[in-house]
Amino acid sequence: MRVSAPKQVLVIGGGAAGQMAAWAAAEQGAHVVVLEKMPQTGLKMGLTGKGRCNITNARPINEFIAETPGNGKFLYGAYRRFSNQDLLERLHENGLLTNVERGGRVFPVSDSAQEVRSFFRTRLQRAGVTIHTSAAVQSLRRDGNRYSVVTVDGRRYEADAVIIATGGASYPQTGSDGSGWRLAEQLGHRIAPPHGALVPLVTAGDTAASMQGLSLRHVELTLEVDGRRRETLRGEMLFTHFGLSGPIVLSLSGQASAALQEKRQVRMLLDVKPALSAEQLARRIQRDMDTHRRKMLGNALHDLLPQKMIEPLLEAAGVAPTRIAAELTRAERQALVATCKAWSFPIVATRPLREAIVTAGGVCIKEIQASTMESKLCPGLYFAGEVLDIHANTGGYNLQAAFSTGFVAGSEAGRQDHESHYDSN
Ligand SMILES: Cc1cc2nc3c(=O)[nH]c(=O)nc-3n(C[C@H](O)[C@H](O)[C@H](O)COP(=O)(O)OP(=O)(O)OC[C@H]3O[C@@H](n4cnc5c(N)ncnc54)[C@H](O)[C@@H]3O)c2cc1C
Repeated sequence: MRVSAPKQVLVIGGGAAGQMAAWAAAEQGAHVVVLEKMPQTGLKMGLTGKGRCNITNARPINEFIAETPGNGKFLYGAYRRFSNQDLLERLHENGLLTNVERGGRVFPVSDSAQEVRSFFRTRLQRAGVTIHTSAAVQSLRRDGNRYSVVTVDGRRYEADAVIIATGGASYPQTGSDGSGWRLAEQLGHRIAPPHGALVPLVTAGDTAASMQGLSLRHVELTLEVDGRRRETLRGEMLFTHFGLSGPIVLSLSGQASAALQEKRQVRMLLDVKPALSAEQLARRIQRDMDTHRRKMLGNALHDLLPQKMIEPLLEAAGVAPTRIAAELTRAERQALVATCKAWSFPIVATRPLREAIVTAGGVCIKEIQASTMESKLCPGLYFAGEVLDIHANTGGYNLQAAFSTGFVAGSEAGRQDHESHYDSN
């Protein structure tokens, strides 16, 4: 069935995805209104990259898919139409310059996420997009080819096309509280159960807490589920008052969280010296013992390990910190090596979803056309960003997913010659 050209486009949610969608729809000549629940748009964007906004990544698109454990393949269609290079070109042409850093991470030259926020505000104004803030949408209805939306304070809007870009349910203080899923459900969409994806992990006992604040670089962390090694990552991590955080922990947390939900046993095995084999490490420890013969172990290992780690590691290895270096037995040395290479941290929970960097779960992608972001159930309804059941690792991949899906949804919703591929029910 042909659907008349959607000229009035409503975008629900003024985050990364919603703003890009609004910009793209306006470029198609559509009349675009953004309804944003919070008093300002892009609040989450302002927190990204520790205030610096890791806006995308410079790596090839294939690697984006690999870095997107939550339905990465679904994004091929959107990336084909609007890649990281397309995003960067658009930003640069419009005056937002960027730098590439370690691991291909792209940041604005200003190092300011606030600049990115105000960049989008200005671009939307120039494109003629109307933004209504403090406009929380609570209901969405479809009447034939038209949609109507009502906000919590009773305002009513009508449109030919609607884009739901309400984000997930993490960091609800930025506005994303999961209310977009209710809207999707009102029109028959299914929601994959949400859980935290990039989320810190809570460990059993107080070993991690005793090293609170200690951050490690070039370590290796292995996720083990029911005694089976699932994945190993090398990089940076951090001990906190509740357990583990930092980039490699967050990257493994999606799988850990899913396994915990299935009531499986989850452990992280930390290799504090991944560059050394067990034999090399044993020789290295022996050398340190020879150098500091008369010292107690607690003081003889500081060339090898950070001070904060020595006592907890000795305790985990079952070796008393008061042992004299020269008296260390072979068995004790082997216990130290084994602990350094696979220090076990049982995981009992993730931090709550509200503390997750991204939300896994959301609107089921099977019900969305990957090349257009249009609903397969309701022609003229589109989705973009984290409201969908997609989630990626750290590195700029989540914002790119929001921008790419936003661009595609906006371009399609705003098209004057729009022809829907799906029949209305
Ligand atoms: C602390 C932190 C740091 C991060 N750093 C990075 C990073 O550096 N790089 C990266 O790639 N990703 C990063 N992310 C993830 C990234 O920010 C998100 O994946 C991205 O913002 C998702 O964009 P979105 O537009 O889908 O959702 P959001 O940015 O959450 O926007 C959704 C918008 O919809 C509004 N809304 C919700 N419900 C309604 C409603 N009912 N009516 C009207 N409006 C509504 C919300 O108020 C919000 O403004 C970070 C996330 C966090 C929390």
